Amino acid sequence: MRSIATPDFPLKLTNYLGFTEKDWIELLEECGAKRFHASQIMKWIHHRFIKDFSEMSDIGKEFRDYLVEKGTLLEPKVRAEFVSKDGTRKWLIQSFSGSLFELVYIPEQDRGTLCVSSQVGCVLDCDFCSTGKQGFSNNLTSAEIVGQIRIAIRKLSEIYPRRKRNVTNVVFMGMGEPLLNLDNILPALDLIRSDLGYGISKRKVTVSTAGIVPAIKSLAENADVSLAVSLHAPNDELRDQLMPVNKKYPLADLLEACREYAKKFSDKRPIFVEYTLLKGINDNFDNAKELCSILRDLPCKINLIPFNSFPGSAFKQPSSRRVREFQSILVEKGYSVTVRTTRGSDIQAACGQLVGRVSDRTNRQAKYGEISLVNEKYFK
Ligand code: SAH
Repeated sequence: MRSIATPDFPLKLTNYLGFTEKDWIELLEECGAKRFHASQIMKWIHHRFIKDFSEMSDIGKEFRDYLVEKGTLLEPKVRAEFVSKDGTRKWLIQSFSGSLFELVYIPEQDRGTLCVSSQVGCVLDCDFCSTGKQGFSNNLTSAEIVGQIRIAIRKLSEIYPRRKRNVTNVVFMGMGEPLLNLDNILPALDLIRSDLGYGISKRKVTVSTAGIVPAIKSLAENADVSLAVSLHAPNDELRDQLMPVNKKYPLADLLEACREYAKKFSDKRPIFVEYTLLKGINDNFDNAKELCSILRDLPCKINLIPFNSFPGSAFKQPSSRRVREFQSILVEKGYSVTVRTTRGSDIQAACGQLVGRVSDRTNRQAKYGEISLVNEKYFK
């Protein structure tokens, strides 16, 4: 059972916000109650956004009292809101451990994308990412991850009362490496996808990874969502320099895991390949051609992300002409390629600009080792 300890809740209480249907059924049966109550309870929590178990009028008092005694329905707290001139919103949120992380909402004509965080900080230390430069603080719990969706839907329904559905897409592209926090992202994905939770379809939920190869396999076995891979370099030599994780899981293994992932699902879902363009580093024509050749047998869509700068970074964004030229080489070879327009950069909400505040700047290598072990039970 997932528990939380917070400054407000010194005892280890269960946070029922992160409970899946399976968790509820197990708990109800343990307590001798009927399993059909699971769907009633989940609708109260995720559709009607109750704050208190006493509001669940169709659930017996005895069971409600049990829930009050053993647990809580606690959302992480919103500490600040920033609104970009392009409509992008960023919320600064406090995790139960006290550290701060970020949640970003990107409205578009026909959809609204919520970019959620999975960890406070990150151990992977990719050279061009400001989150990585902050070090690592902690994994977010499933309640804190689901809490981000709940917070955004509630707040957006106040801001846009006439819109029926504000959050149509959820992407795990905020702070952290989601595949180093499988324990918490798997139940969260279940709730995001479930009709008793947030009912978002599998193609509209995307988990992005820097390339934790064994965890890609576990994701395929335990969830049914879209996969994005942060590639950023077409060969090991360059990728080793930009992304230390490549030394542990080199490109050939990563691409093989992606091909397996794509094969696993019958609906021919492509893998989203993310490629951040860094001026003079990975943006020349040979890089583009090499990228075409390594992606040859992978059903994929390529998303080019012109580098977003942050204080202290030596990297530069290529010219828009260079971005277009790079794109056209890939398009000529038959790839579907989009260029990610920078959203929310005036409020530091663009890719790689999320920093939050990490309270414990632990040595990244040591933490990386520790986290790999935590996830090991999923790695067959
Ligand atoms: N750890 C996961 C989730 C982060 S998603 C992953 O690596 O996929 C954030 C995306 O933005 C990743 O593709 C990341 O590599 C990219 N990114 C990081 N810093 C960036 C920057 N400064 N400019 C543009 N893209 C950046």
